[in-house]
Amino acid sequence: MPRETHEFQAQVKQILDLVIHSLYSNKDIFLRELVSNASDAIDRRRFAGVTRPELLPAGEFAIELLADPGARTLCVRDNGIGMSRDELVENLGTIARSGSAEFLAALQRDQGATAPELIGQFGVGFYASFMVAERVEVLTRRAGESGAHRWESSGDGSFSLEEAERDEAGTTITLHLRAVEPEAGLQDYTDEWVLRGIVKRYSDFVAHPIRLRIEGDAPKEIEEDLNSREALWTRPADQVEERELFEFYRHISHDWQDPLLPVRTKIEGTFEARALLFVPQVAPPDLYHREMAHKGIQLYVKRVFIMDECRELMPEFLRFVKGVVDAEDLSLNVSREMLQQDRQIRAIRRHLVKKVLDALGELAENDADAYRRFWAAFGPVLKEGLLVPDEKPERILDLVRCHSTHASGELTSLAQVVERMGDDQTCFYYAVGESLAALESSPHLEAFRDKGIEVLLFADPVDEIWLAQLPPEYRGKSWRSVGQGEVELGDESEREAAAKAREEQADALKGVLAAVRAAVQEDVKEVRVSSRLTTSPACLVLEQGDMTPQMEEMLRRAGQDVPKTKRVLEVNPQHALVERLSALHAADAEDARVTALAELLYGQAVLAEGGRPEDAAAFVSRLNELLLAGLEPGS
Ligand code: ADP
Ligand code: MG
Repeated sequence: MPRETHEFQAQVKQILDLVIHSLYSNKDIFLRELVSNASDAIDRRRFAGVTRPELLPAGEFAIELLADPGARTLCVRDNGIGMSRDELVENLGTIARSGSAEFLAALQRDQGATAPELIGQFGVGFYASFMVAERVEVLTRRAGESGAHRWESSGDGSFSLEEAERDEAGTTITLHLRAVEPEAGLQDYTDEWVLRGIVKRYSDFVAHPIRLRIEGDAPKEIEEDLNSREALWTRPADQVEERELFEFYRHISHDWQDPLLPVRTKIEGTFEARALLFVPQVAPPDLYHREMAHKGIQLYVKRVFIMDECRELMPEFLRFVKGVVDAEDLSLNVSREMLQQDRQIRAIRRHLVKKVLDALGELAENDADAYRRFWAAFGPVLKEGLLVPDEKPERILDLVRCHSTHASGELTSLAQVVERMGDDQTCFYYAVGESLAALESSPHLEAFRDKGIEVLLFADPVDEIWLAQLPPEYRGKSWRSVGQGEVELGDESEREAAAKAREEQADALKGVLAAVRAAVQEDVKEVRVSSRLTTSPACLVLEQGDMTPQMEEMLRRAGQDVPKTKRVLEVNPQHALVERLSALHAADAEDARVTALAELLYGQAVLAEGGRPEDAAAFVSRLNELLLAGLEPGS
């Protein structure tokens, strides 16, 4: 195969451009990225070797740094899994990660001060090499293949690819270094002490030996490994510096930022395990791409790395948690299939879930600001836990924060709501909808506002689902949707008086309510006098236990055949429009304006909840008819 030239994917070009034009002030981290990739590649070869021993190397696994001060090159060489030709093109020529487009868009909107943090969430990994090198060569051979390939680029829009030779499987990255320029943060990356320092700082805990050899005119073999390879989680907590902990987090998470919250735990008893877990600061762009997002937990057995992406150790609603679990009593040959049935794994998982939830509870108590950030990033995911049958909902409800009519822009906990409502109120009132703005102006809230009763506002898509299947009580209070069933507020005598008044009104409006119902019976199953409206003329509500329109829509999108649930149209007897309608009807039950007004009442109830009348054109023409009638001079 002759030498071929390939264009980088447009997004990669953008990233390279950002990287080269010194987006990062700290250039040293290129080495952390290359070492981390080498370490990942070794882990993958080791794991592949469990079932296919022929893929394992003859010698021991190691990462070697070969520095040549005269030639100004630095090689990072590993005997990991290597890459096939296709993998080379795919991994080092495109950005396959979902969310990269959104990321770049965000970056463009936000050029400047916060850009490094933004790009940090994304992590440019391998491309960081171009901060320190004007040309990068990758020589790689995939374990199990005989041929090797050379990839080469100057980071200027294209890379070349050709067949090559390599003695054994693995990868060598050769950096043709830029000139040393301390003011620009470019150190001499061929200097023994510079390299030692960087490895110690960023990669000390990497589980494979990192060795250094100086080549060229004054060759020198450094005898000892550059890294201590110490498993951080085996050291007593007070002997691990935060800096080390955070570097370790970055290594395992591929995140470029500090974590929000580290969680250490130890399981003792019939079996033993330790875990070092982290909650990140910021949601990764692929958090909602289920397949992509669940890769946080690495499994070790007795300090030996077993596998990445161990889903069995963390439920989906905690898929943002990253970290390491080290079990003492599992077999080193444990496979994914075995894990699914393993009792010990299930027990570890239960323990980890409890620890993470406890730690989040403590965070909420001790650092409200950090908790708010956590909730903004991961709240909707955590609430998915309320849908899991064997999860205790109280534990998650303790952590839930939501908007409310009484918290004006702030988030509130349910415990605070309980405190505010006092003993007399027996339930949480809540409204679910598509946006906070629509909820806040919903007619359903009018009576509650009027009486000063707090209503919780939920606007995440997941809220619709968990609220529909909540356990009956939390902290002794039940749940009531403000858009469902009849509303009965106040103490017993108030409620009785209200019911009586409503009955009288219903009686007085009997004829006109029937006429309205006849006009809109396609869409509503009942028309009644409302107890929840104070300013709006009408609203739509569900009967207790009926499915919400949002839920119906969700099921329909999931391919289920759900019949349309008709709702109840409630009218406000005090509203001038309803009074006028009643008068029109009393004067002439056949007056065409009665039907027109009835349809308008229904249409505006749909509009008021942020919906759209099914036949918008007919709604508008009705509206115009009535407007014109009303605007008749002298009428
Ligand atoms: P990340 O490590 O976050 O996946 P990188 O940009 O660091 O992103 O690396 C991109 C991909 O290139 C890796 O996921 C891996 O598949 C491949 N890769 C990089 N370095 C090596 C290596 N030394 N050996 C094998 N594969 C590698
Ligand atoms: Mg990487």
